Amino acid sequence: MTDTIRAVRGMKDLLPPESRRWQQVEAVSREIFARYGYQEIRLPLLERTELFARSIGADTDIVAKEMYTFTDRHGDSLTLRPEATAQVVRAYLENGLHLGAGVKKFFTIGPMFRYERPQKGRYRQFHQINGEALGVDVPELDVEVILLLLDILKHLGLRDLELLINSLGCPVCQVDFKARLTIFLARREGWCDDCLRRRAANPLRVLDCKSQNCQALLMEAPLLRDCLDDDCRRHYDRVLELLSRFGVPYTEQPRLVRGLDYYTRTAFEVTAGGLGAQDAVAGGGRYNGLVKELGGPDLPGIGFAIGQDRLMEILPEQDSPAPPRIFLAALGPPARETAFSLLRELRRQGLAAEFDFQDRSLKAQLSLANRLGASFTVILGDRELAQGRVLVRRMDGGEQQTLPLDGLAAALAALIAREKDEHRV
Ligand code: ATP
Ligand code: MG
Repeated sequence: MTDTIRAVRGMKDLLPPESRRWQQVEAVSREIFARYGYQEIRLPLLERTELFARSIGADTDIVAKEMYTFTDRHGDSLTLRPEATAQVVRAYLENGLHLGAGVKKFFTIGPMFRYERPQKGRYRQFHQINGEALGVDVPELDVEVILLLLDILKHLGLRDLELLINSLGCPVCQVDFKARLTIFLARREGWCDDCLRRRAANPLRVLDCKSQNCQALLMEAPLLRDCLDDDCRRHYDRVLELLSRFGVPYTEQPRLVRGLDYYTRTAFEVTAGGLGAQDAVAGGGRYNGLVKELGGPDLPGIGFAIGQDRLMEILPEQDSPAPPRIFLAALGPPARETAFSLLRELRRQGLAAEFDFQDRSLKAQLSLANRLGASFTVILGDRELAQGRVLVRRMDGGEQQTLPLDGLAAALAALIAREKDEHRV
């Protein structure tokens, strides 16, 4: 026997009934995005490697060791996208979406790829829901983006969320901070090998180290907020003031950086209880230098990414009623002919209907109807057909009624609508 082929490590198949819950999450997100004026863009999964190398930063974990990069048949270096912001900016510039004044708001939903060690909450293909607002750098927009993110999470029924926030300042503040941090890092011993490398290449990256030992050593490190210039300080204070005004609880996390180099000013993360070690369900922040870095004008941006896989793990159980289903049980060839036409008619009326393609006993057909969660089963036998009638059985209570075959689809549609009003199905 030949071996069966398995999926790539760290990449999952998404199966029913789970897939339905993913659809619901996406539907809720789309609705909230629309409320805030964000429009969907769908982008390719592959980009030129250069796009990510230039934007994310050569010393980040993503670029240094997590990208799926390969050379295509033409000899071009391509990469499966590890995150969305860089490509949103690429598309924004390439399609002239940046032309004209004002804020441009986009969202995108889809898979990302990172070669990480697979574990709970960490996969090699994972999924993000991204929101991005480009063109304006005012604290009100930062607050809108945070409110939008929290609105999505709350509408999905998530509780026990914590908003962590920090300001990374602008490149000018960062020069001052990096100088202080470099001195601090040189004076301490015990950094992990990765951090020794980061210390030389890009000291800010040390703050994002996942090692507990390094995090403990960092407790006394200088803080970014002490290096903010007046403009960055005012921006940050206003963000915090507005969050307080809207009653949004937050925790200042002065060592929060982000896994990517391009962030400036406001940076945030949302953590959720119940996730274990990988507890960040979303992250985001301002990226004022990115558009210019990618060859465009000096336009600011801010956005967030929700980790959809992690979100699914903490989503409260919701009873998501399957669409009311009508099952057609038919006995004998003439009844099956009629049932097959009726199936088409019911679906044209907008009803979810099913039929046994295997032509089995009534008992087997009824048990299939149960398994599918049908609300009603229509029984078509030779005798009923001869009289131009069918038997309609409610699957939960077992009550039966006889309905004329003529006009049956419309009668069933009316019956289901009535039941829906009474919340019986
Ligand atoms: P982490 O610190 O958990 O590695 P990150 O800073 O690398 O996160 P971002 O690049 O900001 O993550 O991505 C935003 C969100 O995407 C994260 O908060 C997380 O929920 C999710 N995410 C990131 N990497 C993975 C992964 N490998 N598998 C599943 N979800 C992920
Ligand atoms: Mg990461």
